[in-house]
Amino acid sequence: MHELSIAEGIIDIIHQHVTQERLHDVRSVRVKVGTFSGVVPDSLEFSYQAITSGTTLERSFLMFDRIPFVIQCMECQQESVSEDGITLCPVCNSVNTKIISGKELQVKDIELEDVQQENL
Ligand SMILES: [Zn+2]
Repeated sequence: MHELSIAEGIIDIIHQHVTQERLHDVRSVRVKVGTFSGVVPDSLEFSYQAITSGTTLERSFLMFDRIPFVIQCMECQQESVSEDGITLCPVCNSVNTKIISGKELQVKDIELEDVQQENL
């Protein structure tokens, strides 16, 4: 399952940034998820809870920053939010566009019990 391996990746990142003694103090883990990253946040949270249950991270949870899918047109230079993931410029109908955001999947920060933040 796709989300399960991503949840494992997030746990690896937490282990890289938080010392062993402080793992049980981890509260929220903020994750940037692009609309078209291919990840379903609810299912990722579910996988994360399943894996961390009974571990030092069991009281932690994921928080999602949802990033819209934005394209920029190389012809008319307009940036547009695409609701459906179509990379066609809605202004001039050019297909010559590049993706600005919406595909990201990234741990942004990890918040510990005493509100000390580990910014990534
Ligand atoms: Zn255009």
